[in-house]
Amino acid sequence: MLAQVTVLNEVDGECVAVERPNGASPVLIICEHASRQLPARFDHLGLTEEALNSHIAWDPGALAVARGLSEALDATLVYQRFSRLVYDCNRPPEAAGAMPERSEVYDIPGNAGLSDEEKKARTDALYVPFHAAIRALIRDRKAVGQDTVIVTVHSFTPVYHGKTRAVEIGILHDDDSRLADGMLAVANAAPQYKVERNEPYGPADGVTHTLILHGVANGLRNVMIEVRNDLIADQAGQGVVTGYLTRLLQQSLDA
Ligand SMILES: [Zn+2]
Repeated sequence: MLAQVTVLNEVDGECVAVERPNGASPVLIICEHASRQLPARFDHLGLTEEALNSHIAWDPGALAVARGLSEALDATLVYQRFSRLVYDCNRPPEAAGAMPERSEVYDIPGNAGLSDEEKKARTDALYVPFHAAIRALIRDRKAVGQDTVIVTVHSFTPVYHGKTRAVEIGILHDDDSRLADGMLAVANAAPQYKVERNEPYGPADGVTHTLILHGVANGLRNVMIEVRNDLIADQAGQGVVTGYLTRLLQQSLDA
């Protein structure tokens, strides 16, 4: 008989965190890669401390920017409390990247050759409740007449596979580009950062999963924001970028 696979235990707590649950803004901020924390059971997944601190484990600075936006806009924030290395909540269960065996230059020993039971246990523990919580929030808001605009917040590494990335902020979208178009128009009217559409990656790379699931499928305006992580490595940078993104969002929502 198979031993039951346990992903989260009592010390780990819930995987979903919600802040400002009664935010008045239509914006619902989602941060899938907020945390590098591993559930107690995982014992570093065989990775070095350096790898566990790097962008493969989380999006450095993204949660701080997401919280800043949440405060500035009075917007509800939902984030995943555990590392994307255990389950990447911006990927469907069938995607290889959901529980990657390799990320950029790192092999992930603790993800090598996972059994179907292990994959299902991680999916049920981390992916299912995360997206169910977002679905419930959208439904509850709709019930009281509150609109929802989906905004996901991410960061990316300035150097990937040895190549330096010039783009500073990416405004990403899938089929519904309404909000992205508006933000890009505001950005282009007064250039402050190097802002690009669907960079440093786009829908073909599978990064718009959350947007499709909660935005496109529900006819809700949506956007994915990617910030180069060297710009938000400290509080000062996080504050400047948060102020900038608040302006882009507010002006395009008002337009
Ligand atoms: Zn991310």
